[in-house]
Amino acid sequence: MVKVVKFGGSSLASAEQFKKVGAIIRADETRRFVVPSAPGKRNAKDTKVTDMLYECYGIAEEGKEFAGKLGKIRDRYDSIIKGLDLTLSLDEEFQTITKNFKNKAGTDYAASRGEYLNGMIMAAYLGYEFIDAAEVIRFDNDGNFLADETNQILAARLEHSENAVIPGFYGAKEDGTVHTFSRGGSDITGSIVARAVHASIYENWTDVSGFLVSDPRIIDKPAVIHTITYKELRELSYMGAGVLHEDAIFPVRKEGIPINIKNTNAPEDPGTMIVESTCHQPEYTITGIAGLRDFVAVNVDKDMMNSEVGFCRKVLQAFEDNNISIEHMPSGIDTMTVFVQRHDFEGKEQQVLSAIHKYAKPDTIEIEGGLALVAVVGRGMKSTRGTAGRIFSALAHAQVNVKMIDQGSSELNIIIGVSNDDFERAIRSIYDIFVETQL
Ligand code: ASP
Repeated sequence: MVKVVKFGGSSLASAEQFKKVGAIIRADETRRFVVPSAPGKRNAKDTKVTDMLYECYGIAEEGKEFAGKLGKIRDRYDSIIKGLDLTLSLDEEFQTITKNFKNKAGTDYAASRGEYLNGMIMAAYLGYEFIDAAEVIRFDNDGNFLADETNQILAARLEHSENAVIPGFYGAKEDGTVHTFSRGGSDITGSIVARAVHASIYENWTDVSGFLVSDPRIIDKPAVIHTITYKELRELSYMGAGVLHEDAIFPVRKEGIPINIKNTNAPEDPGTMIVESTCHQPEYTITGIAGLRDFVAVNVDKDMMNSEVGFCRKVLQAFEDNNISIEHMPSGIDTMTVFVQRHDFEGKEQQVLSAIHKYAKPDTIEIEGGLALVAVVGRGMKSTRGTAGRIFSALAHAQVNVKMIDQGSSELNIIIGVSNDDFERAIRSIYDIFVETQL
C-alpha cells in the first residue's frame, strides 16, 4: 500500500504547521511520497509566499532593487527552519535565486521557488529524498503538460525511492526552462505522483474537513460531503466550488485512484472521498449546490425555427467566430437561448449579434444580462422521485423567479437560471429543503 500526500500552503505556513504535517506523515509509514505547496497565509492578513515571489520578481524584471523583498521571503523560510531546529542553510539557494532573478529567469521560475524551497525543508525535516520537480514533470515548449512522458519519467525515478518529497506546482519544458501549472497547481502534481506510483489513495491535506455541500459565505456552517464522484465534482467545481484544482482529478481518475480531502488541523475528521463510482447514497439526496453570477442570455427568435435544419449551428457559429464558450442552450419551438459568461461576451456583444443576423437571419434577438446559474448536483437524484419538484417549490416559497431550467439526461444535475439579485436566496432555499429539513 502506498499513499501520496499533498499538503497545501496553509498546512505549511509556519513551523507549527510543519510539525502537524510531520506528525501526520510519521503516523502512517505508507505515506511515502509527499508533495508540498509553498508556505501560505499564517493569518487572514498574511501574504502567500507565491504572491511575494511574483511581486519580487516583477520588481527585479523592471531592473529595480529587489533584495529587501527577497529578504522578507527568506525570513519566512528561515523562521520555519529555526522553528523546526534544522541545521539547513539556504544561503546558496538564495544566491542562485538572486542571480537568476537578475538574469530574468522568468515569472514561472520565480513562482516555483516557493515550492522548491519548501520541498527542501520538508525533505530535511522528514529525512526523505528531495526530487526537484523540474527533473520529473515535463511540459512541451508551448507549456502543455506532457502526461504520458511525465508518467514514464516519474515512475522510473520513484521506483527505486523508498520515500521522497517532490515539490508541487512546477516542472520543466523540454528546453529545461521551469514552467508552472496555473495557480493552485500543486494539487495536480500530487495527482500525477499518485498515478506514477499506482498509489492506493491520494490524500490532499488542506485546512477544511472536506468539501462542503454549499458555499460557507452563503450558508452558515454547511454540511460536509462524505463521498463524491469525479463526475459530480466536475459539475460542482465548474460552477465555482473551489478546494481542489479542477485539473487535479484527471491523472488519478484514469487509474481509479480515490482522492481523500483531509484537514491538517483536524486529522481525525474523515474528510471527503472522491471516487469513480460508489454505492454510498449521499445523505441528502443532493450532493452539493454551487453557482455563479453574471451570465448573459441571448434569446434568438425565428418563426418556424424548429423545421429549419442547421439553425442552431448557424447561431452557434456566431459565438465560435468570436471565440466565446457557451454554457447552456435551452430552446423552445421558435426560440433558442444561449447562455454565456458576461466577461467573455460583453466586449464582443455587437459582433456576435451581427454574426447571428448574418448566419441565421432571425426575426429578433434579445439580450438579458444580470443572470446567475445555480447547479444542484447529485447522483442520488437519479433514483429519487420529486427532486425537481422540491427544488422548484422551495424556490417559489422563497419568492425566487426561475428564468431557465436545464437538466442533463444523466440526471446528475439540474441547472437553474435566476436573476443575480436572487442568487443567494435561491441557494439558501434549496439548501434548506434538502439539508436542514432532510426530507
Ligand atoms: N503555491 C501555488 C499557489 O499559490 C501553488 C499551490 O499552492 O498549489 O497557487
